[in-house]
Amino acid sequence: MLKKQAKCTICKTKGLKNKAIVYLPQHRLALCKEHYISWFEKRVQKTIDEFKMFSKNEKILVAVSGGKDSLALWNVLTKLGYKVDGFYINLGIGEYSQDSKEKAVNFARKINRPLHILDLSTEIATIPKLKEISNRPACSACGTVKRYYMNKFAKDNSYEVIATGHNLDDEVAVLFGNTLRWDIDYLKRQYPVLKEEEGFIKKVKPLCKITEKETAIYSFLSDIDYIEYECPFAEGASSIEYKEFLAKLEEKHPGTKLQFYTNFLKRMYPILNEEKKEDKKLIKCKICGEPSTNEICSVCRLKQRVGV
Ligand code: SF4
Ligand code: ZN
Repeated sequence: MLKKQAKCTICKTKGLKNKAIVYLPQHRLALCKEHYISWFEKRVQKTIDEFKMFSKNEKILVAVSGGKDSLALWNVLTKLGYKVDGFYINLGIGEYSQDSKEKAVNFARKINRPLHILDLSTEIATIPKLKEISNRPACSACGTVKRYYMNKFAKDNSYEVIATGHNLDDEVAVLFGNTLRWDIDYLKRQYPVLKEEEGFIKKVKPLCKITEKETAIYSFLSDIDYIEYECPFAEGASSIEYKEFLAKLEEKHPGTKLQFYTNFLKRMYPILNEEKKEDKKLIKCKICGEPSTNEICSVCRLKQRVGV
């Protein structure tokens, strides 16, 4: 909790007495608006450097959903001097897609950067239709097509890196779920950088050490207009339950989430990847030529079911 008269920790070191507006318990920092924004941006830069995510010469594509995380990420990276364009997939989820697209388009205009838009309805089918036809949960079909089109678009347009807005809360919830199930294959791949490999572009998560709340504060203080409600299909996802549970833990013990995540990366991830067992071999999909573990990739199989 921020005390009423608290002063900004950084201003104090400079002999100034600016009022703090944000308190970050796990970092024991009270900050004014200006220093909060620069703290946030430096933290992102540090994460990029720590994991050697990309350089200023590389062409980066940021996956934009219209939500606070992806727009904040696009904003920070642009401010830090990286060459970043946006990529938005219109999922065709009614009002949610209309509103989120509008936010993404307006933001691109505001920062004067190109935004590429891909319409799922013309490529394959909308998410509600895919859910119906494939008999799979919406999020599972959505994850498959988003990964596929993002990777394909980046490759076809010579982008070298794909950056996504996954934050610490997202990563910790996934890590928690994978640990509960001891899903070693997923745990082995849970790293903020997925290197380029056989047809896949390098993928990075520069916000992986920043909480959802911290991004929300940054977006608010930076005047970023984002979609404030969730996709209707997000309701009931187990990751939301994990997030609620972890938030309670964090409230009692500030820093728990960051510790759980960073210690996993430091201590567990290297052990899991010690023995370089051959992963399932990737081959080229017989129809579209994209990397796949089966003769026909999952998107082409979905297309066959849809009849396109
Ligand atoms: Fe797609 Fe599910 Fe996210 Fe909605 S909640 S955008 S359906 S992954
Ligand atoms: Zn295919």
